[in-house]
Amino acid sequence: MEKIKLNNGVEMPLIGYGVYLVTPEECEKCVSDALAVGYRSIDTAQAYLNEEGVGKAWKKSGLKREDLFLTTKVWITNSGDKKAADSIDNSLKKLQTDYIDLLLIHQPFGDYYGTYRAMERALKDGKIRAIGVSNFYYDRFEDLADNMEIKPAVNQLEVNVFSQQKRMQEICSAYGTHLMAWGPLVHGENGIFTNPVLEGIGTKYGKTAAQVALRFLVQSGIIVIPKSVRIERMKENLEILDFTLSNEEMEKISKLDTGHGIAADFTDIEQLLGLYHILKSMKV
Ligand code: NAD
Repeated sequence: MEKIKLNNGVEMPLIGYGVYLVTPEECEKCVSDALAVGYRSIDTAQAYLNEEGVGKAWKKSGLKREDLFLTTKVWITNSGDKKAADSIDNSLKKLQTDYIDLLLIHQPFGDYYGTYRAMERALKDGKIRAIGVSNFYYDRFEDLADNMEIKPAVNQLEVNVFSQQKRMQEICSAYGTHLMAWGPLVHGENGIFTNPVLEGIGTKYGKTAAQVALRFLVQSGIIVIPKSVRIERMKENLEILDFTLSNEEMEKISKLDTGHGIAADFTDIEQLLGLYHILKSMKV
């Protein structure tokens, strides 16, 4: 599996498997399947309520811990120094591990500076190998990155062919922060699997539109974590390292960018406020 070097030297697989909206019951089976077909990086979160399933699956897999890369995220209700620190210990137990490879702040709400301080400490204590953020845009990202001792290794954002986050990639790269794409297949929406540009390019390489869309991201240096509960699609999403898009093809796909998020537009203040109120009311 091809790897990317994070800003603290830790190596992370370019392709991982995400388990958002995978039920706790389903999670163990899905992660077992994903590991069986070759994934070595799993993305979960406290808020997905399925960290235990990830822990059970990797334990049963027989893989050595060092051959696996585990990412989880601190949820808003665990924000603040003490609560975040406790939640890290809780995640470690659920994941059945002594260390988390990458820990992210899930959303920039609550006392996330306190959370980040707890994460810096946990990193120094050896409980975490790399720390970062998710859904941190523009000023919030820069403010945190400027003021904390350890620069975020990763910023996990909605990134896909229709929302390429070119400005965020520029901002993040100034801190050595890698983009990690959530929703790399637009949750299967926006006609991505029948998009004529992606399908047309795919025909040349014997690849699907999904594979071309994922290839475009990894070829742009972006980490991807596509999700599917179907084993044949898990395989399909992994098979993207055996072809290279030409400069002209990269340019063509680059033009599919709308310049804003598809799941949520973080440049639209009304959408941002709406999202904040939804997250605040969640009972996690
Ligand atoms: P995704 O873009 O990976 O799309 C997943 C959906 O696409 C699947 O449910 C399936 O219906 C379809 N699909 C997948 N592979 C396919 C294929 N080869 N052919 C046809 N259809 C296919 O969406 P996602 O699950 O939202 O994002 C991936 C991961 O990102 C999540 O599982 C989670 O780990 C992470 N995530 C993080 C955040 C965050 O706030 N940090 C938000 C959403 C998701």
